[in-house]
Amino acid sequence: MAEFALIQQYFAGLSAPGGDVLLGVGDDCALLQPPPGRQLAMTMDTLIAGRHFLADVDPVSLGHKSLAVNLSDLAAMGAEPAWALLSISLPKIDHHWLQGFVRGFKTLAERFGVRLVGGDTCQGALSITVQLTGLVEADRAMLRSSAKPGDLVYVTGTLGDAALALQLLRAGKDPGELRERLEKPQPRITEGRALAAAGVRSCIDLSDGLVADLGHICQRSGCAARIHVERLPVSSRVRSHVQESGDLASVVAGGDDYELCFTLPASMQSLWESLPFETTCIGEIVPGKGVELLQEDGSSLPLPPAWEHFSS
Ligand code: ADP
Ligand code: MG
Repeated sequence: MAEFALIQQYFAGLSAPGGDVLLGVGDDCALLQPPPGRQLAMTMDTLIAGRHFLADVDPVSLGHKSLAVNLSDLAAMGAEPAWALLSISLPKIDHHWLQGFVRGFKTLAERFGVRLVGGDTCQGALSITVQLTGLVEADRAMLRSSAKPGDLVYVTGTLGDAALALQLLRAGKDPGELRERLEKPQPRITEGRALAAAGVRSCIDLSDGLVADLGHICQRSGCAARIHVERLPVSSRVRSHVQESGDLASVVAGGDDYELCFTLPASMQSLWESLPFETTCIGEIVPGKGVELLQEDGSSLPLPPAWEHFSS
């Protein structure tokens, strides 16, 4: 099957010319018309078989996840999703696999108004790159560099579910309901849009784990964060794992949560009560450097050496 026929059969159908898409899949470039007064937020992520996903993962989940990780970046900036480019490298043409992949991608794309406007298709080791563009009201984007001492630190949802699922899968165990958190993360677009509209200035999505990602906010903002570990929101499954093993790594350093972590200045703290989704206050921004994990007795939990470069 020729590359062109493959693109027509699977990817052209995800392109919907009209409105701001003057020209979608099929020419040398897509032509897009950005609305006046909004800035473009652009991001890209690559998923490589064996590195970012297990090669035998369900293709529907992979289609979902390849878009979800990019949507999560837009969520962190408070942007509204618009246009995607998809570069896919396939070892062979497997129609069953492609149908599943397109279904997973398309379902999530439709849910968040993403139009696929182009891409690239080639033969090679399985790898997927999605480039996603979003729109954000001028000067409303939430930045890693805007946190200030005195801000409180919040996270959406629960932490550690995906990391525990991966750990269980690697040990040959069934992760049960945690599997969805790993394979089908739900990007927090609605939450990100609401936070930006309310005037929140500083946010990041949690893809590499809380300590690493909050560490990026600290580094870019020139300050430190104190996290109270007993406040960290966890599911009952993760709670029992932590109680049995005493191991907090999946919660504070596990990747793939795709929740949002944001900071609120004292003047905005009443906002937190009015947010229409679940958030938890987990700590505060203070002067200094790096992320400190505080236990209930006030002592700090040492960061294992492998995490230390995240703290400075
Ligand atoms: P060119 O050689 O000019 O780069 P291609 O033959 O690679 O063009 O692609 C033809 C058209 O199909 C282009 O509009 C391109 O954006 C689109 N396209 C190719 N692969 C994909 C894909 N995986 N998903 C969406 N669109 C694709
Ligand atoms: Mg060309």
